[in-house]
Amino acid sequence: MAKINPDFAKEIKKYGAKDFDACYNCGNCTAVCGLTDKNANFPRIFIRYGTLGQRKEILSSKELWLCYACGECSLNCPRQAAPGDYMAALRRYAIASYEPTGLTKLIFKSNPFSIFITLILAVILGFFLLTIKPDYIVSRWIFDIIPYDVIHNMGLVIFSLTGLSMVWGVFSLIRKFSKGKKKDVKKKNSLWSSISKVFIELGTMKRYRICDSEEESHWKTKPEIIKPWFVHWSIMWGFIGLLFATVLDFIFKDPAMSIWLPSRILGTAAGIMMMYGTTLAIYYRIKKVTRSYKNTNLADWVLLIFLWIAGFTGFWLEVSVGIAAENLFNQIIFLLHTVVSMELILLFAFSKFAHAIYRPLALWFYNNIV
Ligand code: SF4
Ligand code: SF4
Repeated sequence: MAKINPDFAKEIKKYGAKDFDACYNCGNCTAVCGLTDKNANFPRIFIRYGTLGQRKEILSSKELWLCYACGECSLNCPRQAAPGDYMAALRRYAIASYEPTGLTKLIFKSNPFSIFITLILAVILGFFLLTIKPDYIVSRWIFDIIPYDVIHNMGLVIFSLTGLSMVWGVFSLIRKFSKGKKKDVKKKNSLWSSISKVFIELGTMKRYRICDSEEESHWKTKPEIIKPWFVHWSIMWGFIGLLFATVLDFIFKDPAMSIWLPSRILGTAAGIMMMYGTTLAIYYRIKKVTRSYKNTNLADWVLLIFLWIAGFTGFWLEVSVGIAAENLFNQIIFLLHTVVSMELILLFAFSKFAHAIYRPLALWFYNNIV
């Protein structure tokens, strides 16, 4: 029999859940959620888990990651229990629980700490970058104060620790999914069939589109390219495209810096997509266009703003390299671009960004086993 933990409700509220314990189990959220599928209890079952403090059930649940935070359930909740916000808080709680150092717990629970760690990491990464660019004017100033070796080694330690935390987090999630309801586990689809279902979902956002078509009349008459599913799609594929372009650029270094190299063309197209998606996502949050954009927390802002800065400074550098404008200002822009991009990667396991791996994994488990 599962242990009951009444303190869990207090804990989960620190991750951004509202009055989810006001729920009186009417079932409206389940009825309106387009992703309820055959599971007649989704998302209501999570309220029950939270009220009873059934931590294990939450952490081993792949369904938790299937929610796209459209907010339709919150809009239709007669008790203002905000089940959509509660699901988002549970995902933050899960990300923090999979990560071994405890840092994510502090980042999600305390905004001042989150800002502090982001700034400190930016400074350390900035200094580390200068050790790779020792000819920069700023590098010479810094090395006069702090020795090169101290900065370089500190950077390497941080890279190793964050990398290990990321790998740990992914394995922890896989272990929990595999253990969840072990006795009921049955094969649902073959390996390839479940992998292809994940890629179809990532490529088409079929499930997210169901959310959009159901959420508030606001989106009903709007063109697809400004709907939240397309905004999410643009950010995700833009970022993946930029990662590929960076790797290709690194492998096939081009001394002539031509913008017509395939990696550059891919980078430009992916950058445009990411800028488009992040700009709209930021605008929707500032304007609070629908219920789901009203409760943006710091983790969401940081992720979006970092992606936007990485995209904008990336384009700035492309132009400045194209016109050979090598000066102190552009060196600072390069540092800013690289620091923000590295922070996105390094804070992967410690931020909302972790969902970029956890959701596809959850989808795979969801499609593969019952
Ligand atoms: S709609 Fe609100 S009150 Fe009804 S079951 Fe869902 S969370 Fe509970
Ligand atoms: S936020 Fe949307 S997808 Fe998530 S449970 Fe509520 S209605 Fe379903």
